[in-house]
Amino acid sequence: PPVLQFHDVTAYRNDTKVMDQFSMTINPREHTAIVGPNGSGKSTFIQLLTHQLHPLAPEGDTPPIRVFGKDRWIVSELRKRIGIISSDLESEIRHNLNHGRLSGSEVVLTGFFSSMQLFGHHRITDAMKHKASRTLASIDAAHLKDRRFNRMSAGEARRVLIARALVTSPEVLVLDEPTTALDLVARERCLQHIRNIARQGTTVLIVTHHLEEVFPEVTNVILLKEGRAAFSGPKKEVLTSD
Ligand code: ADP
Ligand code: ADP
Repeated sequence: PPVLQFHDVTAYRNDTKVMDQFSMTINPREHTAIVGPNGSGKSTFIQLLTHQLHPLAPEGDTPPIRVFGKDRWIVSELRKRIGIISSDLESEIRHNLNHGRLSGSEVVLTGFFSSMQLFGHHRITDAMKHKASRTLASIDAAHLKDRRFNRMSAGEARRVLIARALVTSPEVLVLDEPTTALDLVARERCLQHIRNIARQGTTVLIVTHHLEEVFPEVTNVILLKEGRAAFSGPKKEVLTSD
């Protein structure tokens, strides 16, 4: 089945319609960019995946959202198959990273658990530690294993969060505005790592307001505008239309 299917998804926040009959399909091994200006519905899209927001009930029988073919999913279980990297660093730090006091390798190890609480109460196996080091190394961050998260630069912090999302070897990686607050060098480096991940076979979905972040491996583009898909299709078609 497709990784993700949205079928006529409509969602409200308070009384505002924030997603309006939005449809899309992402198949395994397709790399997709969801591009849209601020306020177009990019965070809404992520919140629908993580159950922070719910779509309106459908008019017919087709479920509005299916993830790996299922219309019900448990967010904590989804983490093993879809790594989601939030753009909200501050909230991550407060809620999931013990206010930034975790070291790089501890941050990556939290990826094995559904919450900070579980991380604190579970035995961390040698296999997990081994996987965490290998994942950090794969993203040029081996040297950050003992560095406290809140002592890292923005670029380093992003790479460690990417490692956390990858540590369970998910089939899909979703990145929400991955280069926000990065300087030019850190941004290029971050994108290079994302490209490597895509080439190695993980399905990548990047959500961004920067067209420059539509990296060469991206096959499909969805242009979001006011909660609707203004365009959805192969990248070469978007870039030739306007
Ligand atoms: P993006 O992530 O692309 O910037 P959002 O998904 O955050 O866009 O926002 C989509 C729409 O939802 C915007 O029109 C925005 O003003 C509106 N919105 C965002 N947060 C809220 C909220 N808490 N209540 C009502 N409307 C909201
Ligand atoms: P860089 O050194 O990579 O240029 P900065 O350290 O100047 O990045 O950070 C840019 C922004 O990112 C700051 O506004 C800061 O809030 C945020 N930031 C940077 N590092 C962290 C971190 N480790 N934890 C939380 N936020 C961070």
